[in-house]
Amino acid sequence: MHMKLLVATTNPGKLREIRWILGDLPVELLSLGDFPPVPEPEETGRTFEENARLKALYYDKTIAAPASVQWGPIHTVAEDSGLVVDALDGKPGVESARFLGVEATYPERFEEIFRRVAARPSAPRTARFVAAVCLVRNSFVMYETTGIVEGEIASAPRGQRGFGYDPIFYYPPHAATLAEVTDEEKVAVAHRGRAFRQLAAWLAGNVLAESTERRTKGLSSVP
Ligand code: IMP
Repeated sequence: MHMKLLVATTNPGKLREIRWILGDLPVELLSLGDFPPVPEPEETGRTFEENARLKALYYDKTIAAPASVQWGPIHTVAEDSGLVVDALDGKPGVESARFLGVEATYPERFEEIFRRVAARPSAPRTARFVAAVCLVRNSFVMYETTGIVEGEIASAPRGQRGFGYDPIFYYPPHAATLAEVTDEEKVAVAHRGRAFRQLAAWLAGNVLAESTERRTKGLSSVP
């Protein structure tokens, strides 16, 4: 029997990438859409790591733990990510999804970032995407990791792929923004790909290795 993993995100762009990265594992991927809706938790953390942990613990408690009574053990993974711009003293950072308000469009956010970067001409254009990932089961934090990709704020938005701030994130090794490359190329180098590949390796060496061992020894899985 495959391990069940609830990928606790409501962001379709993230979910698409995470499914792509974890697709090869012998894991049954579940999403929030597979369960009756619950309110979203407030992201009160000051760091990506705090928010990832807060979300994983919340969705474990409100969705995975109650559902596991019927479905068997379910692990929960949550991710918190964002764009850190050096010339903006780290903004939008953990506020990335709400920068200029939840109703603001990405083109409006891009314009504001360009305006603020231009207002500090001597500051570097360097920026990074960060993704913190947290795996929880039964209220217990089992694994945490963070992935980072370094780049620069582009001179203008470019590209139609990806999501969020990808059109203004220039990745020098590809001489392109992350909205100009394919999903496959993006996850190979970007923050979420790095973090979830580390999670995949950890699962393969721990949870998945243990369940294979139990199967070969003929033991039932421990809840
Ligand atoms: P979260 O849902 O609170 O983690 O917010 C993440 C936000 O950061 C997203 O809504 C995007 O605005 C931004 N973000 C995170 N990862 C990416 C990415 O890979 N590309 C573009 N924007 C991203």
